[in-house]
Amino acid sequence: MPSGIPIFFSDELARFNFGQGHPFTGDRFLKFMDLLKAAGLGDRLDVRGLRHATHDELLLAHDESYLDYVEHLADVGGNLTLDTPVNRDVMDIQSLIAGSGLDAAKLLVEGEVSIAHTFGGFHHAGRNYGEGFCLYNDVAIVAKALHQNHGVEKVLIIDTDAHQGNGTMDIFWESQQVLFISIHQDPRTLYPGRGFAHEVGAGVGRGYTVNVPMPPYAGFGHYERAMDEIVVPVSRAFEPDIVIRNGGSDPYVGDELTLLSLDYDGLAMLGREVREISDQTCGKLLDMMVSGYGPSVIYGWLALFCGVEKLDIDYKAHSPPEYKGSRGFPENVLDEMLDETIEDVKKYLEPHWDL
Ligand SMILES: [Zn+2]
Repeated sequence: MPSGIPIFFSDELARFNFGQGHPFTGDRFLKFMDLLKAAGLGDRLDVRGLRHATHDELLLAHDESYLDYVEHLADVGGNLTLDTPVNRDVMDIQSLIAGSGLDAAKLLVEGEVSIAHTFGGFHHAGRNYGEGFCLYNDVAIVAKALHQNHGVEKVLIIDTDAHQGNGTMDIFWESQQVLFISIHQDPRTLYPGRGFAHEVGAGVGRGYTVNVPMPPYAGFGHYERAMDEIVVPVSRAFEPDIVIRNGGSDPYVGDELTLLSLDYDGLAMLGREVREISDQTCGKLLDMMVSGYGPSVIYGWLALFCGVEKLDIDYKAHSPPEYKGSRGFPENVLDEMLDETIEDVKKYLEPHWDL
C-alpha cells in the first residue's frame, strides 16, 4: 500500500483560465495544495502526476461530432454557452483531469488504494453538449471506463455539488449499472434548472437516477436529514462496487453563485457521510472536487477533504473567519419546505427502493 493519501495534481492545472472576470479561477489548485501543506498534511500526501485522456476514452461519454466541435472552438475561439468559453488551455486541462480520474479509478480497482482524490467533477457536460464551465464529463468517462474497461458492475455516483449534475444524469438516464444520486439546490432557483424529484431515469434505468432538490438556504441539519433519510439508505441498498463522489465547495454559505447555507462543518459532514457509505459497502471511493466560487473555495475543499479522509485536524484554523451574513428563511418555514422535499423524493422512489 502507498504511504500517503493519493491525490492527482500537477502545476499545469494553474493554466486553467476562462478569462478575466470569470468566476471559475485556475489559481484554486495551487492554493489548495499550499493550504494542505499549511495544515500539516504535506508529508501525508502521495501526489500523482496527470496524463491526458485519450480520444477513445473521451468517446466513452461523448459523441465524435461533439469532440470535433470542441476542438474547432479551441482553434478558432468561441463559446459552448455564454458562460463556457473554450480555449486550448481549458480543453487541455479538462482532458488531463479526465485522465487523472481514469488513473485513480484503476488504482482503486486494482486494490492499491481505498480512496483517491482528483480535481474533477465536470458534471454539466453531456454526450453531445457542454455547458456550465464543463467540456468533458470526467465523472461519466470514469464511470463508463469502470464498467466497460474494468468489468465493474455497479458504480454509485453521489453528486454533492450545489448545482445538479445534468450531464451525468443524461448520460446514465437509461442505465441501471450506474446509480446517480444528486443532492443540490432546488432547480427552480439555480442553474441548470434540472434535477426535480420526479426525474428518476427511464427504461431499465428507472429508479437509478435520484434527485434531492434542497430548498435554498438549507444548512447543516437539513443536509444531514436528507443524507440520512434518502442518500445513505438508497446507496446502501444499491450495494455498489465503487463510489464516486463529486462536488466542491459551492454549497457553502459564503459561495458567490449559490444560495445554500452549509458551513465548513457541513461540508466536512458531507464528506464523512459519503466515506461511511463507501466503508460500509465496497471500500472504494474516488473523490472529486473542482467547484466553488469566491474567496472561500479552498477552505471549503479542505473541510470536505478532511471529512472524506476522517482527518482529525482543525480545518478552520487556516481559513479567514467564517461567513456570518444572514441568508435566513425562518427555520420553521425551511423545515416545512424540507419535509415536502423529502416526502416528494420518497414518493417517486418508493416503487424502486425500500425507504
Ligand atoms: Zn457547482
